[in-house]
Amino acid sequence: MIQPTIGSGGTHCPYCAMQCAMDLVVEDGRLATAARDFPTNRGGLCRKGWTAAEPLSSSVRLLTPLMRDSRGAPLRPASWDEALDAVAAAFRAAREKGGPDAVGVFGGGALSNEKAYMLGKFARVGLGTRNIDYNGRFCMASGAAAGNRALGMDRGLPFPMTDLPGAGAILIVGSNPAETLPVIVQYLEEQRRHGGQLIVADPRRTATAQMATLHLQLTPGTDAALALGLLHVALRDNLVDRAFIEARTTGFGAARRIANAYWPERVERITGVPIAQLVQAAHMLGEASTAMVLTGRGPEQQSHGVENAHAFINLALALGKVGRPNCGWGTLTGQGNGQGGREHGQKADQLPGYRSLANPEHRAAVAAVWGVDPDTLPPPGPSAQELLESCGSPDGVRALLVMGCNLLVAAPQTERLRARLEALDVLVVCDPFLSETAATADIVLPVAQWVEESGTVTNLEGRVLLRHCLSPPPEGVRSDAQVLKALAERLGRGAYFTADHRELFEELRRASAGGLADYAGITWERIEAEQGVFWPCPSEEHPGTPRPFLDAFATPDGRARFFAVEHRPTAEEPGPGYPMFLTTGRVLGHYNSGTQTRRVAALNAGDPEPFVEIHPDVARSLGISEGGMARITTRRGEAVLRARLTRAIRFDTLFVPFHWGGRGGANLLTNPALDPTSRIPEFKACAARIEPAGNG
Ligand code: SF4
Repeated sequence: MIQPTIGSGGTHCPYCAMQCAMDLVVEDGRLATAARDFPTNRGGLCRKGWTAAEPLSSSVRLLTPLMRDSRGAPLRPASWDEALDAVAAAFRAAREKGGPDAVGVFGGGALSNEKAYMLGKFARVGLGTRNIDYNGRFCMASGAAAGNRALGMDRGLPFPMTDLPGAGAILIVGSNPAETLPVIVQYLEEQRRHGGQLIVADPRRTATAQMATLHLQLTPGTDAALALGLLHVALRDNLVDRAFIEARTTGFGAARRIANAYWPERVERITGVPIAQLVQAAHMLGEASTAMVLTGRGPEQQSHGVENAHAFINLALALGKVGRPNCGWGTLTGQGNGQGGREHGQKADQLPGYRSLANPEHRAAVAAVWGVDPDTLPPPGPSAQELLESCGSPDGVRALLVMGCNLLVAAPQTERLRARLEALDVLVVCDPFLSETAATADIVLPVAQWVEESGTVTNLEGRVLLRHCLSPPPEGVRSDAQVLKALAERLGRGAYFTADHRELFEELRRASAGGLADYAGITWERIEAEQGVFWPCPSEEHPGTPRPFLDAFATPDGRARFFAVEHRPTAEEPGPGYPMFLTTGRVLGHYNSGTQTRRVAALNAGDPEPFVEIHPDVARSLGISEGGMARITTRRGEAVLRARLTRAIRFDTLFVPFHWGGRGGANLLTNPALDPTSRIPEFKACAARIEPAGNG
């Protein structure tokens, strides 16, 4: 039994990017969470937050390292020294055979800023490998790329969430915050109470769509056509802001010419959205004095995800609804530290502070902080999916370290990935639990959970937050930073690393100074005193930047850029043999791959198993009944799931949540086709068929 010791100060939820403030308390002898009043969650928590303490004292928590004596042998307990020595020996052996790039590192968007920073540095300085990327590539990469290109900076919401209620109209595209960021709903409800219009575009009538003034139930994969149709109507009906376009943007002409060809009849044919609704939505957005356009994984997790995001940025820019209070385009970040986790170097092409690994000046600046020769830093490496594809191949990654990610649930085409991981010389997984990925590993290292160490995270609005260590990890468990430090020491690079999170943050401040995500002026004391600090914050005198685009965009000339994008079909359209669209997403009760939430009794009671949503008329025609089992097949595999019949979904679409592994795993089915710019896989639309699979 783990005996808790409660420290002082508060923490923030381990799950979604709202990062609600909470305390850890003892209730009836057990650890529990309690809501804390804070400017973001304003005292609110969702059911995941209320039960977030349960995994801390889970009976299936790992309390000792595990390793196999040979491939195929069972995992057995090991001492830390034995396990770490084995990891270091395996990394050395891989490097001797294949060079530094034979070792790969895969991180996660739930890692704290300090750990994400350290992981990137460990790959480049500790291992010298170019092979590092993380699961945010599966999540935020398209929105990030489009934001960088169009606005000069990737900050999920470039405004505080307290701006939401003041928006006269909000368009949410392919996101269901009522289930994925539940506490943000209070801001949407406030916006509605103030008379604001809420428009939701989604193939499903989700909980968020049910709150909306107008629901645009588009065909999966047609997001760009919808955005182009809205822009077409805005142009036709004189709703665009020509003064704003003239003063603050470039490239409008080419974008306008494309939108001119997306007349409403054409857009209705492509998207399935009735003309009247298209016109109504354009007028709601264009006639409101303030408005926001928010995209989520729906348009972004596609093989044209970056173009889709650009299409909606174009719309917001044309309406003049960017760069002023209660306005803006934003991308709704999902993972707990999805924002901070993508800023400080665990991406394949990135150095801390959003610096580029391909830029000699950026390399020199960061190398100086790290005390290394910039020429020793490896070049940018392959993206997450490409890194995983190279695993186990003779000239690819032979040894892989995974930290903060459950790949065999979260990555596309999981059975193919399993084969790749099994072909590695060694797979090392750091996790508090024996996740699906850890269960296949050669060495498993048990690491601390969120409230067992101090550190910072950055929420979806760019506010840097501090989590206090409120309960020490149980005996036998170490922090991820201790693991990396111990490995660096065994590899002869220990002098470059500290495992102290506060020292890591101070180093991160220096390494990010002068970058776009500049944390130089942010201290743990300021975060505490000011209830979070918004980056960029270049000095301790600087107040932080809640709205970075009020005066200028972060582009070289200060102007936002239109990108001339067309609608393009998804990589795989329904057709003979696979007549339906399959789309994937989340449910209220679970977070990401479910490694933590599937171990919480109350959450499992509400959402105990994977399922497929199907329209009842389609289900009846196929002989599928409510609660019966159904088999979904795509060109990559099949999954067997319980059917839920609902009129909330389109006739041509199936929906499967991705929180589970096993034979109900959504990612047995998904398409690894990549966006050419962001390299995000196409989780949100592929071709599928469904048939009854008995009643078990
Ligand atoms: Fe808040 Fe998200 Fe945690 Fe729910 S899961 S309590 S919305 S941070």
